[in-house]
Amino acid sequence: VVKLKIWQRPAYLFYQWVWTGLDWLLPPRCGGCGKLGNRWCFDCQREIVTIDPPFCERCGDSQKANGICARCVAAPPGYTALRSWASFNGPLRNAIHRLKYGRDVALGEVLARPMINYLKQTGWKVDIVVPVPMSLSRRAERGYNQAALLARPIALSFGLEYRSRALRKTRETRSQVGLSLGERQANVRGAFEADRRVVSGKQILVVDDVTTSGATLNACARALRVAGAREIYCLTLARAI
Ligand SMILES: [Zn+2]
Ligand SMILES: [Zn+2]
Repeated sequence: VVKLKIWQRPAYLFYQWVWTGLDWLLPPRCGGCGKLGNRWCFDCQREIVTIDPPFCERCGDSQKANGICARCVAAPPGYTALRSWASFNGPLRNAIHRLKYGRDVALGEVLARPMINYLKQTGWKVDIVVPVPMSLSRRAERGYNQAALLARPIALSFGLEYRSRALRKTRETRSQVGLSLGERQANVRGAFEADRRVVSGKQILVVDDVTTSGATLNACARALRVAGAREIYCLTLARAI
């Protein structure tokens, strides 16, 4: 991702200042370990296990050599590429849990930073940033979408268009936790719809907090393709392996 208009940069800096200002008023606890002082501490950062090559060029799954994995050859995914910053355990797992259930909204800004750095190295060309949506009832229950808390600062930092309603969930799905790969795919198949007016002909970046099998992102990507999106790149903060 390279698109960055200089006049849009202050919007991201302002966004960061707001959260930093709030930290002064109300000293935060680390999302990873609960220690007082920073939203994300140095000790937790040191425990991060990033996901590095070699991995499948499409789904990003670790494998012995670069290239496309057997699963993606047999059933090519709807997205152009899927990548994740780090492995889903330890402090990162705690932080995502807090982002999701603890209403720890300020964590989104700090956890988006490594995703921003990751994107700078991808060479992906992106027009629009889109969070993976939740169903309306779940959204109403929680009050916010944790994927949006990551997607918005990413869009701001690159001066990209942020479209939270480009994707929409068309039906309820049960939690993917504990389901097999086949069950996960069936659970989310056809559960998303994309707005053609927004995504047609565009290069899309879809953002989520965690991926396990990639089934949700694949379903999102298929909906975007159907609506005419040109390229679909997916980035998640973490990947459960
Ligand atoms: Zn910590
Ligand atoms: Zn693959």
